[in-house]
Amino acid sequence: MDIRDYDVIVLGAGAAGENVADRARQGGLTALLTEHALVGGECSYWACMPSKALLRSAAVIRAAQRVPGAAQAVTGALDTDAVLARRDAFTNHWSDESQAEWAEGAGIDVLRGHARITAPKQVLVDLPGEGEIHLTARHAVVVATGSDAFIPDIDGLRAAQPWTSRDATSARSIPASLAIIGGGVIAAEMATAYAGLGASVTVISRGALLEGMEPFAGEKVLESLAELDVAIHLATETTRVSRDQQGFTVETNTGETITAEKLLVATGRSPRTRDIGLGAIGLTPGDWITTDDTLLVTGFDWLYAVGDVNHRALLTHQGKYQARAAGDAIVARANGASLSDRPWGTHVASADHQAVPQVTFTDPEVASVGLTASAARDAGYRVRAVDYEIGDVAGASVHSDEYAGRARMVVDEDRNVILGATFVGQDVSEVLHAATIAIVAEVPLDRLWHAVPAYPTISEIWLRLLETYGRPGNGHGSSMEAEPAYSFASGG
Ligand SMILES: Cc1cc2nc3c(=O)[nH]c(=O)nc-3n(C[C@H](O)[C@H](O)[C@H](O)COP(=O)(O)OP(=O)(O)OC[C@H]3O[C@@H](n4cnc5c(N)ncnc54)[C@H](O)[C@@H]3O)c2cc1C
Repeated sequence: MDIRDYDVIVLGAGAAGENVADRARQGGLTALLTEHALVGGECSYWACMPSKALLRSAAVIRAAQRVPGAAQAVTGALDTDAVLARRDAFTNHWSDESQAEWAEGAGIDVLRGHARITAPKQVLVDLPGEGEIHLTARHAVVVATGSDAFIPDIDGLRAAQPWTSRDATSARSIPASLAIIGGGVIAAEMATAYAGLGASVTVISRGALLEGMEPFAGEKVLESLAELDVAIHLATETTRVSRDQQGFTVETNTGETITAEKLLVATGRSPRTRDIGLGAIGLTPGDWITTDDTLLVTGFDWLYAVGDVNHRALLTHQGKYQARAAGDAIVARANGASLSDRPWGTHVASADHQAVPQVTFTDPEVASVGLTASAARDAGYRVRAVDYEIGDVAGASVHSDEYAGRARMVVDEDRNVILGATFVGQDVSEVLHAATIAIVAEVPLDRLWHAVPAYPTISEIWLRLLETYGRPGNGHGSSMEAEPAYSFASGG
């Protein structure tokens, strides 16, 4: 029987797993990554990177078409084959050779097989065709197994074998028509991508579009999807799905029947925890795994969970942030440290609660961080939300003659700090990090006033938002260019 010991054993070599192993190694511990598919995980091969590659080319053409001079030069059709080839290059043609080489270079061992926890600190890895290896962790086992597409319980849906995000991001050709069930980020991005690639797209969402974000975000994306000829059915339940040789038929509670060559289900994620041995240690297979801010699983002193699987924030950058925190916590505890008195150390993922940045790469982009106005109000803050049309900023008019976008800054009136910010518009993704810093650092608005944005950039939206808000401690005056600020203090 092959038995090996490591300080840290990680189940799953996605972005989160890789980072926790790396951080543990940098702290002087030995680390093993186990992986039953591709080292690099969902983000590299079936999620962030290929989806952004599918979106980018059409977005660049649309951006050029909004700038006279460039518009005249953009006369041909999108080269779909070239887009797919670029997507293939982004995914390294679904080869993980370079990521495996990175792990080796970082001093991390990789075992390719399915891993299961069998007892405290014990992991069994099934190596295809080569038997099993028993592993013992001296300090920690980290679950970083990610999430899968959630398939809702709709009559006929599972049997019809619809696309999930994996199929949509790795498609070899563009279907003539695509129906999408869902109204979240993946649905909105894939509707934008496939409409840009020439498919006739229909979105069926049981709620609004981009729920949970500021309402104007979904409204602006809705308008742009309509301009791309995407048919959108909101507040519509899918009641039945069937499939024949022509494609899919979707029936709804509003009596509509939608047919399409392909059907994508984008209705959320479920944890990859069904077959990783959770039952052997008293946890429930198939559940999300709950942790504290050092990513230690509730009730354990040796088990950690990072990335999607802990359901704190299903985004690559947050998973990597959690992984760095968990790696540092494991190293510190291995060295006998007590961590309870250092709330801002690198071993806690406190920003998961305060400032999670997210970009939805639709056209316009939606970039948001922190609390929405209504979430802040629900959390008990005395809130003032300030809105500004980004198209009225000089820098935005340089980017595009038809710039349409809006920004909202959500201010805690008692502390004069920003709780949240949302930007909707072309190229706003690069404006977001300033908001993240302002929120995490709790920069008072009268201090932020001295962070002068360069002219003429879209970042001047910051100046306009601050002017609209009025200088704290100096009355809430408004500038000549300012639009009215909206107050939520009294629930308005
Ligand atoms: C279409 C789409 C687009 C997205 N776009 C973005 C974006 O633009 N930006 C962003 O921040 N986020 C994006 N996300 C979210 C992002 O992909 C995830 O948050 C991220 O991939 C999660 O990383 P992870 O390491 O937790 O899990 P994963 O990347 O899923 O990695 C888990 C790994 O564990 C392996 N594994 C599972 N079980 C076992 C086992 N028992 N034994 C061995 N190996 C195992 C899996 O094979 C996998 O490689 C997107 C998601 C989707 C679906």
